[in-house]
Amino acid sequence: MMIEPEDPSRDRLKHHFAQRVIHQARQTLEVWQRLQCSEWNAVEMAELSEANLLLLRYAQRFEQAEHSQLAEAIQTCLAAVEANRGRLNSELISQLNQLMQRLSRTGLRHSDQLEQTPLPALRKPVYLALQDVVQGQRLCQQLQSFGLQAQALDTANGFRSAMTERHPAAILMDIDFAGQGCGLRLAEDVQNSLEQKLPLLFFSQEETDTPTRLAAVRAGGREFFTGMLDASSLLERIETLTHVSQYDPYKVLIVDDSRAQATHTERVLNSAGILTHTLTEPLQAMTVLADFQPDLIILDMYMPACSGTELAKVIRHNDRYVSVPIIYLSAEDDLDKQLDAMSEGGDDFLTKPIKPRHLIATVRNRAARARNLRARMVRDSLTGLFNHTHTLQLLEDARSRARRSGTPLSFAMLDIDFFKKVNDTYGHPMGDRVIKSLALFLKQRLRKTDHIGRYGGEEFAVVLPDTDAATALKVLDEIRQRFAEISYPAQPMDLSCTFSCGIAELHDGVDSKALSKRADEALYEAKHSGRNRSAVYPA
Ligand code: GH3
Ligand code: MG
Ligand code: MG
Repeated sequence: MMIEPEDPSRDRLKHHFAQRVIHQARQTLEVWQRLQCSEWNAVEMAELSEANLLLLRYAQRFEQAEHSQLAEAIQTCLAAVEANRGRLNSELISQLNQLMQRLSRTGLRHSDQLEQTPLPALRKPVYLALQDVVQGQRLCQQLQSFGLQAQALDTANGFRSAMTERHPAAILMDIDFAGQGCGLRLAEDVQNSLEQKLPLLFFSQEETDTPTRLAAVRAGGREFFTGMLDASSLLERIETLTHVSQYDPYKVLIVDDSRAQATHTERVLNSAGILTHTLTEPLQAMTVLADFQPDLIILDMYMPACSGTELAKVIRHNDRYVSVPIIYLSAEDDLDKQLDAMSEGGDDFLTKPIKPRHLIATVRNRAARARNLRARMVRDSLTGLFNHTHTLQLLEDARSRARRSGTPLSFAMLDIDFFKKVNDTYGHPMGDRVIKSLALFLKQRLRKTDHIGRYGGEEFAVVLPDTDAATALKVLDEIRQRFAEISYPAQPMDLSCTFSCGIAELHDGVDSKALSKRADEALYEAKHSGRNRSAVYPA
């Protein structure tokens, strides 16, 4: 599995330095993360700048081009933020946010350039130290088909030398690796010698007693698997352990006929890193809502064209915006009128003049709760993918964006073949596992910019922006082939599954409903001509 480097010591050194750069990138991102719930005061901003400068210095010294370019751009951006204290604007905040997002992706698997690397892999491997060598090799292969690099090791020395060679993304250690109870001690040893602890997962063929489990926890184990070990549950765990949390700044739509008042509100929110969009013409609200997708709306009570409460009602009539919090901001201090306004779809009433801290805190709390709720509303609970309704909404959004920018868009539908037989032969829980595993597989294999949904029982849908049918076919068909290679350990015999896929590309005069119908037709074609294949509309 391992490729022998030409000059191990030089390679090791290079790797060691790269690690330091990555570590410092994490530090920078952590400070950035903390800033999201604070008020961006001078001390905090200085801390961010300091962390980033250190990153810049390491990246330059150790010749990490991508990091050094990013750190440099971030520094320029931070300087602009500093120069604009008190006059921070949404553009600058988005710019900084985008750079931070790119930084957070430097160590991750998802690539945004589909053409360049259709199937990017996690850069760091997972080390598998299992007592049963055959099992280790097999798991290794399965993980690889999920796009994860894995390296199976068979001796304690092999493991130690791999550790000095390169730190993995995670370690899976059999407690009995290289002798009874030896794995546990080996992992503990290695973990203790590390400054930065690694995600460590334990495995035991047999059910174990509490003292062993306790010892595993003490050795820094984050998970304990027993019995059957399948790639998808393992991957699911690794995914959460190595996940770098993403942060998107909150977006607030301000509707106020007074430009001066709106600008004031914008300044306050921008100064805390919150993105804003102002509208002085309330009748345009619906168009802007669809484009800007705010987390929260601030409404003025009294406007000439329509009142805030009227607008709130209009907004609430649209199913999509039922849960977006609406806050009235007004000089109105008549409590009865305030209560009336709240009953008309508002969530809160703030009276002018309001203290900036109070406004920021209210917006943050409301927006955070709304996001949380929304995340649960739009996702399917078994797989965590988008549900049917939301997938169609995402398709509609992507369609109007593609129309405007003149970029291609493809929509794909996937359906697992003969899935009823899986349930009948192996039971429903095993069927669920296959569904979850395909969900994970798609998440692992597709770009962050693609939207993946669970369309129905064993049906999935993928929205691929910026992708024509030929590229979509290439990518999805490779996914199809790889998925078919996965074998799930099961009784009476191991199980593998296939799926069929139908793809349609957006063309003039086609709405999203027709586009999904075309993908469905292509899927039918794929099923009809023998399954385990992909088809593009028109056949
Ligand atoms: P085809 O190749 O034509 O798609 O055959 P199929 O058996 O996959 O298709 P069919 O639509 O006849 O059967 C789908 C089965 O999927 C029926 C249903 O019991 C099962 N199913 C749907 N949702 C779930 C789920 O959430 N979990 C499990 N385990 N099974 C599910
Ligand atoms: Mg079906
Ligand atoms: Mg099916």
